[in-house]
Amino acid sequence: NADSAMYKAKELGRNNFQYFAGWMDAQVSNRLEMLVSLRRALDRDEFKLYYQPKISLASGRIIGAEALIRWISPEQGLVPPDRFIPFAEEAGLIVPIGEWVLRTACAQNKLWQDAGLAPIPVAVNLSPRQLDQNLPEFVRQVLVESGLAAAWLELEITENVVMRDAEKTVATLNALKRLGLQVSVDDFGTGYSSLSYLRRFPVDALKIDKSFVRDIARDTDSAAIVKAVISLGHILNLRVIAEGVEDQEQYNFLLENGCDEVQGYLLGKPMPVEDFTRRLELEMQTGFS
Ligand code: C2E
Ligand code: MG
Ligand code: MG
Ligand code: MG
Repeated sequence: NADSAMYKAKELGRNNFQYFAGWMDAQVSNRLEMLVSLRRALDRDEFKLYYQPKISLASGRIIGAEALIRWISPEQGLVPPDRFIPFAEEAGLIVPIGEWVLRTACAQNKLWQDAGLAPIPVAVNLSPRQLDQNLPEFVRQVLVESGLAAAWLELEITENVVMRDAEKTVATLNALKRLGLQVSVDDFGTGYSSLSYLRRFPVDALKIDKSFVRDIARDTDSAAIVKAVISLGHILNLRVIAEGVEDQEQYNFLLENGCDEVQGYLLGKPMPVEDFTRRLELEMQTGFS
């Protein structure tokens, strides 16, 4: 009857509310914990940069390194960036973290050069939040402090960055480019950039997203997209890099279709600095073959 229906609705409402309140508590305390431990991580130096080689398809040699952040948490062990970067972005911590990444990568690249290793650009990933009008001046300072020439720094931005506020972004990118560094568009093909943006934005390279590379051999659409991006990049005078290359079949496809650079587990996983240094030393010893 009506009374018992009302009673049920009330019960249900209360239970839902309790459920919701409990769920919210869990969320809040997780977020607070995460915020606190990320802050502490910066102070305690718990972040590390791994480096992954970029290989020239023409020479087969290392022609670059991408710096990829890792969090070595005393509680959680090695935490990959996908598990904390989005949170750091939301909490405003991405700016100090990003500054640490830029300083560390530039200083490390200078160390490699001072050790007499063949000079390569180091690429640093940027979050949309970092790309404001203060960034060019900050980057300039980091280059001066580290003694690294701008030509040996590359910044990786995603397409969505570019779409946020086109006018401001163009101005910021132009200021960055005037420093003499390189800019590449990461995860190309997954975002929203249109061809007209590509023409207007001062970028040097396109990185084909690994989701397209993964299916090159099995999926004719992915293969067609990869070919089209390579052509597009070259028409616009951009270098084209394929990420996520895991097997020889993908490598051969990219080589045959004129891709410039490859990155992926086949050529080398992201590795701690000591291992990457050894890779560079080995590269010097083997010389040009
Ligand atoms: P990304 O810049 O597109 O980096 C490529 C990702 O693909 C890396 O994941 C790399 O480890 C992974 N990868 C490389 N080769 C292969 C492969 O052959 N197969 C597969 N399946 N994966 C491969 P990672 O290191 O976990 O980084 C994930 C994302 O986190 C990066 O994507 C980047 O967007 C972001 N990220 C990493 N470091 C930083 C940083 O210092 N600052 C910011 N803002 N974002 C960062
Ligand atoms: Mg990247
Ligand atoms: Mg990518
Ligand atoms: Mg990415």
